Amino acid sequence: MAISAGEVNPKGRVGIHLRPNRLSPLGVILLGLEIAFLGCQAGTQSGPDFAVRRKAMVADQILARGIHDSLVLKAMSEVPRHLFVPAGLVDEAYRDYPLPIGEGQTISQPYIVALMTECLALKGGEKVLEVGTGSGYQAAVLGRIAAAVFTIEINAALAREAASKLERLGFPNVRVRSGDGFFGWPGEAPFDAIIVTAAVPEVPPALFAQLAEGGRLVVPIGDVQTYQQLTVVTKKNGQPRIERVLDVRFVPMTGEILKRK
Ligand code: SAH
Repeated sequence: MAISAGEVNPKGRVGIHLRPNRLSPLGVILLGLEIAFLGCQAGTQSGPDFAVRRKAMVADQILARGIHDSLVLKAMSEVPRHLFVPAGLVDEAYRDYPLPIGEGQTISQPYIVALMTECLALKGGEKVLEVGTGSGYQAAVLGRIAAAVFTIEINAALAREAASKLERLGFPNVRVRSGDGFFGWPGEAPFDAIIVTAAVPEVPPALFAQLAEGGRLVVPIGDVQTYQQLTVVTKKNGQPRIERVLDVRFVPMTGEILKRK
């Protein structure tokens, strides 16, 4: 079975964080009409209206599934997701699933980006570390909320592309580095929040060490070949407190972690 990064595991949902999809039958009908409307719009000469699609994405995929953090909703309403996907997939940028971004990697499903960001419980002003830059989209969403974002990508080509995109689009508070996120970013530690967007069998020790007291680390932990549990690790008096959120599927973390098995 192919594993695509950053999506809800369709085979089952667990956890304290999952709220039922609150769409009423009327909501479903309206959603259907909206999709039909967007379909028509995409075919017009003026081209697709990405702002309209983005608004629908936030309402139907994110708010409807119980994400209420206003900073997350605002950031996801603003960041132009269609500019972070390959040119040939622009039309699918606001759909409810992950998309390939080249180099065998993927940009996460919008809902997963929103959920992971909400789990970080950012208030603004934080210093955040991301492991797994990929397209740079998650970093951009974080950049709209936090004071500073440091993101590491092991694939040099993806890192280069994400760095130049983020610069072009105006995210001066996001720094991209090519390297192995297993070791974190020691020169910038501690971080108020850390997000790992690749699957790990367990938390890399350097990442927990670089988490500030009271900070939150959001990471998919489990069998990297099948599915994982989106997990929030909070540092309380130097000790990890574990909360499992939802079953998910991410691409595996590579690099040093593979040698430690
Ligand atoms: N957050 C991304 C999606 C992540 S896909 C986005 O918004 O588009 C997972 C990414 O993690 C891939 O790009 C992969 O190359 C990267 N990755 C895998 N192992 C890594 C490691 N050890 N260090 C840093 N990045 C890693």
